[in-house]
Amino acid sequence: MKNTALSPESRQQSLKDGFLLLFLLSAATLACLLLDPYVSLTSLSMLYVLAVVLASYKLGRRESVLAAFAAVVALNFFFVPPRWTFQVERSEHFIALLTMLVLALVINHLASGMRRETEMARLNERRARQLQNLAIALADADTPQAVQRLTQSALDAAFNGTNILALLDADTKELDFPTALSHVVQDGLRCCLKEAAILGAGTGRWTELDAWYIPLGEQRQGRELSGAVCIQTVAGDDESGREHAVALCSMVAQSLWRLRLSAAMQAAQNEAQRQQLQGIFLAAISHDLRTPLAVVVGAASALQLQHDKLSMLEKQRLLTSIVNEAGHLANLTENTLQLVRLSNSTQALTRDWESMEEIIGSVLARIKHYDSGRRIVSKVQYSLPLVRVDAVLISQLIGNLLENALKYTDATIHLVVSLETQATGENMLVAVKDRGPGIAEVELATIFDAYSRGDHSERSGQRGSGLGLAVCRAIAQAHGGSLILRRRSGGGSSFILSLPLTLEQPFTLGEQP
Ligand code: ADP
Repeated sequence: MKNTALSPESRQQSLKDGFLLLFLLSAATLACLLLDPYVSLTSLSMLYVLAVVLASYKLGRRESVLAAFAAVVALNFFFVPPRWTFQVERSEHFIALLTMLVLALVINHLASGMRRETEMARLNERRARQLQNLAIALADADTPQAVQRLTQSALDAAFNGTNILALLDADTKELDFPTALSHVVQDGLRCCLKEAAILGAGTGRWTELDAWYIPLGEQRQGRELSGAVCIQTVAGDDESGREHAVALCSMVAQSLWRLRLSAAMQAAQNEAQRQQLQGIFLAAISHDLRTPLAVVVGAASALQLQHDKLSMLEKQRLLTSIVNEAGHLANLTENTLQLVRLSNSTQALTRDWESMEEIIGSVLARIKHYDSGRRIVSKVQYSLPLVRVDAVLISQLIGNLLENALKYTDATIHLVVSLETQATGENMLVAVKDRGPGIAEVELATIFDAYSRGDHSERSGQRGSGLGLAVCRAIAQAHGGSLILRRRSGGGSSFILSLPLTLEQPFTLGEQP
């Protein structure tokens, strides 16, 4: 159904046009009255023609035709003898008035054509600029919601009526309507999506509607449509408006398609990474588990088969090697499983509000038997805030770093906990510093990779799997933090764990249970 009621804006515009028309004719009449004693009737008629030209340039077609007729009537009434009447006595005056009317109408036709062309050129320029700006903004949009927001504001800026953008839900394959929509609009959007074609005024389909329904995308080469747009209160003959709407929608459809492709690529990449990790996992199991298992099986069968023949010392040696190898196997398995678990999802975390002081205390108690020389010196800043972490994993991380430091150095090891304020917020830092052999410059980039071992450990025959630091970094990243390594001036390494602190705390200090 066509909407014929005038909007408040167009009513205001008509009123303005009426005033301008009245002003132009009054000004022409006043000028003619002033010049009347000095100039001929032909010259006066030219002043009225000038008013008609101005009216044609400034006003709509209907108003300017009215101006042409009103100008002829005014000239006749005020200046053509007999004055102050609508009569025309002499035929030459009648011909002059008729000529003036034709002249005014021709000028009017030309001027309003020119005006229309100028307006159209301006409108096209504005639309081209809008498409350009939208293309730039869409290039930065990284979610369908961001594209939806940009599209909605572009549609609202370009078309005065109500504009509706409905995206297709990837799971349900149904259109996602923003609000409660009328059944006509819902049917229009669904039908446009089903037919993958534009519908509505002037399109050749559903022409009785005063809206356009435009699909987002084209159904070709297996591509799916992303949704549909409804632009309400439009005119069937507004071809350039429709072209603009179609161009805008095709730009949006391309942007949505690009997002869909990159999401699919990301999923494929994740899957490839997962498979690669599984491959590494299997390779590690086959390589690293086989050797200690062979030692355990060998020592255990020697104890079983030659129990009576072996001396006490030999039995002790075999038992020690079984315990050591089994410990190594347990460590290796735990680290490998942890790495796989953390790489697959961050939901492996069981976070709670924890005190870092308590976590450090439990780690130190656990590794006490490795630190017979009491070489670990801890320094924890006073009244630290609580951290929301998985205490088991953070203990494992700090424990791994301390065990490494104990393994690779004989000197004192410093464990320092402090706070750091950055532009992005406050962080809690846990640093493990030692004066050991340090890590060579060339190894810095890969030392956190799984199964990567330092050259000095391989040479010294130091036992290890190259998984500890990989697990540590994975734990730090799963908490949204980071683990970095700094070479210390004067020798040694400094491993620094940085955990972001959330602003809100479960309770204020002093209230703690
Ligand atoms: P692992 O210790 O089992 O070999 P990690 O992942 O814990 O595996 O460590 C990887 C490598 O990093 C080690 O082989 C070692 O060369 C080096 N590394 C780790 N911590 C230290 C440290 N504190 N001092 C010197 N080198 C270290």
